[in-house]
Amino acid sequence: MLPSIDRLLLQSGGVVEKYGHRATTVALQEVVQNRRERIVSGHHASTDEDSITQAAERILETRATPETRPVFNLTGTVLHTNLGRAVLPEKAIAAISSAAMDYSNLELNLATGKRGDRESHVESLVCELTGAEAATFVNNNAAAVLLVLNTLAMNREVPVSRGELVEIGGSFRIPEVMQRANCTLIEVGATNRTHIKDFRDAINEQTALLMKVHTSNYKIEGFTKEVSISELAKLAAEFELPFVMDLGSGSLVDFGRFGLPHEPTAAHILSQGADVITFSGDKLLGGPQSGLIAGRADLIARIKANPLKRALRLDKMTLAGLTEVLKLYRNPDGLEQNLPTLRHLTRPAEQIRQQAERVAPTIAAVLGERYCVEVCDAASQIGSGSLPTETIPSSAIGIRSANIGEDNTHSIAAAFRALPTPVIGHTRKGSFMLDLRCLDDEARFVAQLGSLRI
Ligand SMILES: *Cc1c(COP(=O)(O)O)cnc(C)c1O
Repeated sequence: MLPSIDRLLLQSGGVVEKYGHRATTVALQEVVQNRRERIVSGHHASTDEDSITQAAERILETRATPETRPVFNLTGTVLHTNLGRAVLPEKAIAAISSAAMDYSNLELNLATGKRGDRESHVESLVCELTGAEAATFVNNNAAAVLLVLNTLAMNREVPVSRGELVEIGGSFRIPEVMQRANCTLIEVGATNRTHIKDFRDAINEQTALLMKVHTSNYKIEGFTKEVSISELAKLAAEFELPFVMDLGSGSLVDFGRFGLPHEPTAAHILSQGADVITFSGDKLLGGPQSGLIAGRADLIARIKANPLKRALRLDKMTLAGLTEVLKLYRNPDGLEQNLPTLRHLTRPAEQIRQQAERVAPTIAAVLGERYCVEVCDAASQIGSGSLPTETIPSSAIGIRSANIGEDNTHSIAAAFRALPTPVIGHTRKGSFMLDLRCLDDEARFVAQLGSLRI
């Protein structure tokens, strides 16, 4: 006989106090129902009250743990979209938490007591850092592109090179965004070669603007020709059309100075003649998810006035975080220390190797004879469609079965994912690889290795 829910509730005072009457009732009902079904179908299930209460408590405990948990990103990809892209600097985290905790002067001018503009601080920062006349902010770069196109090209035509019709992660494709923005994409040139003449021939009275898209996640090689930013800017100016460029990742400092692959800066692209640029806040910039739009004041004013802007605008926490991240760019020399994304990208390979050599013996000891654990060279990626073909030398710990020919990378990967703080690696040629480039908290990583069960 299974006990009644009322009877079980009377017995579970402590559980009710912790999780509430309603949630506890639901969990108890689930357990009782489950056991009843098992008994009816001829299986054994305990009808003991304590056993039912304990099972309900386990359900409640699982439900109370956050669904999104911290993980160790040892994939070797610094900006991993599935793992949340950029890790934020402490100052940004503090600003986000303070914005969440207290009322603020988000839209109040403290000097005049009148209504203020939530973007004014962050806008002047972006202008200072890029040389733009004005700037505005939305949820992500996809929203930025949508808003710019919808504002400046609704019901009109936009020529784009066939070599630049990018798809980012499946859901963002230039042709589809064009459609949703209510403008007509005019494909010009060929996949591998586009000439300035192709753009010139596409211009007519229906043309709204010229657009260039950063080919973030692929590279066209071989017999190729791309129209440069300055050529397109000149052509746009000749026809008095705005020239818009989607930078994708975008960056505010020259990565070359940190020994990283060169990526043109937002300031450089504006100086080449782009009228409006769009880029992500959480790619190379290293901030929270957001989309930045910067450029000519008259065009930005029109973009701000689009009713869609309100639907896509940033919330107070993201604005607070983004502002603090941008402030770090006032001191480029401090970025390697202060901005986690850059700190990870610039960690010297030698330092990563030493760390791998420190950590590998512990993994080997936990796994025992059945596995080979070795330190090997690795190639980290920047990720998130930033500099797709460039890699950064790194070191990894490779783990594979000691039985030659046996591939159990799936079960090794699953065991690392099952750790209290899940560890995410990648597989390469029959080995499970842990690239330590982004391992900040080595002590916590090592401390949990004892729980590894394969
Ligand atoms: C990443 C990217 C986008 C989308 O940016 P999100 O911030 O992820 O919305 C758009 N265009 C290009 C070229 C990109 O690289």
